[in-house]
Amino acid sequence: MGDGGPPAELDAAVGAIALVDHHVHPALATELSHGEFEELITESDRPVPPGTTRFDSQLGTAIRRWCGPVLGLPASAPAQDYIDRRRELGAARVTRRLLRAAGVSQLLIDTGYLRDGMLGLAAMAEAAAADVAEVVRLESVAEQAIVAGDGSAAGFAERFRAALWERTTAACGVKSIAAYRFGLDLDPRPPAATEVASAAGGWRRQIDAAGPAGGAGSPGPAGAVRVTDPVLLRFLLWAGVDRGLPVQIHTGFGDPDVDLRRSDPLLLRGFCELTQERAVPLMLLHCYPYHRQAGYLAHAYPHVYVDVGLAINHVGARAAAVVAESLELAPFGQVLFSSDAWGPPELHYLGALLWRRATARVLGGWVESGDWALADAVRVAGLIGAQNARRVYRLS
Ligand SMILES: [Zn+2]
Repeated sequence: MGDGGPPAELDAAVGAIALVDHHVHPALATELSHGEFEELITESDRPVPPGTTRFDSQLGTAIRRWCGPVLGLPASAPAQDYIDRRRELGAARVTRRLLRAAGVSQLLIDTGYLRDGMLGLAAMAEAAAADVAEVVRLESVAEQAIVAGDGSAAGFAERFRAALWERTTAACGVKSIAAYRFGLDLDPRPPAATEVASAAGGWRRQIDAAGPAGGAGSPGPAGAVRVTDPVLLRFLLWAGVDRGLPVQIHTGFGDPDVDLRRSDPLLLRGFCELTQERAVPLMLLHCYPYHRQAGYLAHAYPHVYVDVGLAINHVGARAAAVVAESLELAPFGQVLFSSDAWGPPELHYLGALLWRRATARVLGGWVESGDWALADAVRVAGLIGAQNARRVYRLS
C-alpha cells in the first residue's frame, strides 16, 4: 500500500467482484460522430455552450483516462484521438471490449427507454458475457394499455394489470419514473378505483384530442400518450407493489426533464410507511444529491434499498466522496451497486470501474485508520457489489 491508496489485498478483492449491475440500460452499438458522442456523455439535453466541450467534465476526463487504455490508447489521450480510435475499432468491438472490461456477471436491464441502435437483451448478454434479466417500466406498460384493446378508459385498470402481469412473467423487477412525470410529492395512498377510472378517462380524452400523432403509432411516449396524471402514477406504483417484485423508483439526479427539487427521496416517506408491511423491496435509484436522505430512509425502513448509480459516472474523480456518504446511515445490506449506464458502453465500463476504485479507497481508508477490519471491508464490498442484489431480486 502507500500513496493513500487502498490496501493491495482489498483492491484486489474489490477488483475481482463479479458485479451485479442492478439498474442499467442497453448499450448503443452504432457508430457515433464526435458531436453525437458528446451529446451522450451528459445528462443535459441542451446544446453545448459555444467554445466548450463535454469532455471537459468529470465524466469526459474519466473516459479519456480510463476507457482510452481499454481501446489501446495511452491514458488521457486527447478527446479527438479517443473519438478517432473508436471509429478505427468500430462500434461493435468498442462495445464488446468495454462491456467485458466492466467485469459484470449480471445486468438487470431497464428496457423502458430505448433508442435506435441499442442492443437487445440477448445481444447485451453476448457482448458483456453476462447474464441478463429485465426490469419492466410501469409507465411504458400503462402507455401501451391505454391505447390497447377497445381503448375504453373504463377497462384501463384491468387491462394495465393484466398486461403488467404478462410482461413481467420473466422479469426481476419493475420501475417507476413518477419523478419524471410529476414529482415524488404524490399522495402516498393507493387511489380508489373510481379515481383511477376518472383519471384514465381524462387521459384517454387527451389522447383522442391529440389525434394520431400523439397516439399509439407515434415513436415513443410523445405528447398525450405520456402518463403524467398523479392519480395514475400512484395507481402504477401500487400495482407494482401488488405485483410483488422489487419496485425501482427514480429519485434525485437525471436529465432536465426531472424537477430535481421534487425528486428528493424523502418525499417518499409516506409511501415507505404505507408499504412496509407489504415487504416488497423499494429500490431508490441514483438518489444523488439526496443520497444521505435516501440513506436515512434505508436506515428507517427494512424494505428500502439505495444506490448512487449515475452520479458515480458524472462525479468521476469525486466518486469516493459520494460512495463514502452513501455508507453513513444506510445499513450495508441495503446498499447496491448500479451504473445506470445508458447508451455509450463507456458508461457501463466506468460505472463499474469508478465504483470499484471508490469503494476500495473508502473502505481501505477505514481499514488504514484502524476503524474497520480488512475482512469486514472485503465482505461489505461483496454485499454491495453483488450479494445484496442477488438476495433482493432472488437471482440465481
Ligand atoms: Zn436509469
